[in-house]
Amino acid sequence: MKVKYVVLSCAVGLMLCAAAVSWFSYRRQAETLARLGGQRAEIGTGESGPGGGNDSQEQAGRLGESYRAEEKKDGETDTEGRVQETESGAPETQTPKDYIKWVDFDITVQALEDAYRQDVDSYGSGQHVSWIELLAYLATKYGGDFSKYKTKDMQDLVQALTDSGQTMAAYAQGRQYYSYYLEAYTAVLGGLVGEYEIEVPAEGNPEATHWEKKYGLRAFSPVAKGYEYSDYDDFGVARSYGYRRQHLGHDMMGQTGTPIIAIESGYVEAIGWNQYGGWRIGIRSFDKKRYYYYAHLRQNFPFNKSLKEGSIVTAGDVIGYMGHTGYSAEENVNNIDETHLHWGLQLIFDESQKEGNNEIWVDCYALTRFLSRNRCATKKNMETKEYYRIYEMRIPETESDGVDLAE
Ligand SMILES: [Zn+2]
Repeated sequence: MKVKYVVLSCAVGLMLCAAAVSWFSYRRQAETLARLGGQRAEIGTGESGPGGGNDSQEQAGRLGESYRAEEKKDGETDTEGRVQETESGAPETQTPKDYIKWVDFDITVQALEDAYRQDVDSYGSGQHVSWIELLAYLATKYGGDFSKYKTKDMQDLVQALTDSGQTMAAYAQGRQYYSYYLEAYTAVLGGLVGEYEIEVPAEGNPEATHWEKKYGLRAFSPVAKGYEYSDYDDFGVARSYGYRRQHLGHDMMGQTGTPIIAIESGYVEAIGWNQYGGWRIGIRSFDKKRYYYYAHLRQNFPFNKSLKEGSIVTAGDVIGYMGHTGYSAEENVNNIDETHLHWGLQLIFDESQKEGNNEIWVDCYALTRFLSRNRCATKKNMETKEYYRIYEMRIPETESDGVDLAE
């Protein structure tokens, strides 16, 4: 891969100049650029290493415009004020591909729960409503701002949709940005609800289990059942290790050794040490849209020992253990004060967004609260000291679609 280096401060300076020049002719775009110029110097990576949030791209992204940030910032491989520009950092002359550049995910936990309830309750009926479609429709009503959400709006929408006898695709025809929100929210929520099979204990005899087919939430809280944690909405707050940057994930404070659970099924894309995240594991969803990042895992025994790059995990599997490693270039060092899990959710519409300047990390606080209804029970193997889920689960994607790990 061709790599060249650009000094961050020059890039920011150019940004400001560009913003000033285009102020009158492209007033709105210039506003976005100027905001970027002012803010981007402070925005770096999440604890995930390279990349960072582009929350100031909100406006452009919300409208689905083909907007590209030109400035560069620090990557984890180079912390001396230089940054890497890869071929994916597209020069201006290259026509940008048409894919979503930014997503604000601010759907409240109440809206998630209401939509989910409508989806599950209508499953198998003549008019199954998809929770993602409901949320996308309401987003067009709120201009993407779910602080305006009311349960009654959801009920009214479902009623109107039912009365119309139409599919949501037909009902939403002509709603501006419906397709944008549908694609954006499908990227965030697409794998969480669906069909699955799970082992169920027999009544009165938990040792005897049988398999049951179900439909509903098949994703889990990242913290195993029975383990306490505390958290608050900490997305976007400042972090200072290495350089100033935003917190692009969610912290769950708990006890060292707490089993960490795979939220969604997928395959291990990264496992090992990262100077920000410490012992960390990255799991990619089968549809490749989501990258789940779990960081600061336990010193000495961070991961389920069977896992390696390419391993398939099922939602609910124990993937590792809570700890406080990280913030150190040296491996296996506890340099985080408080034991916690940091988890992040990255969206990938185009592979060029995976690492670099155009990463999209979404706020996963409401999602964490929503997922807390589904916590996975685990048990310890006394010999290996490893924890395992008690009840196995299967999802159709693992069996039929499979994964081309050679990709
Ligand atoms: Zn964190």
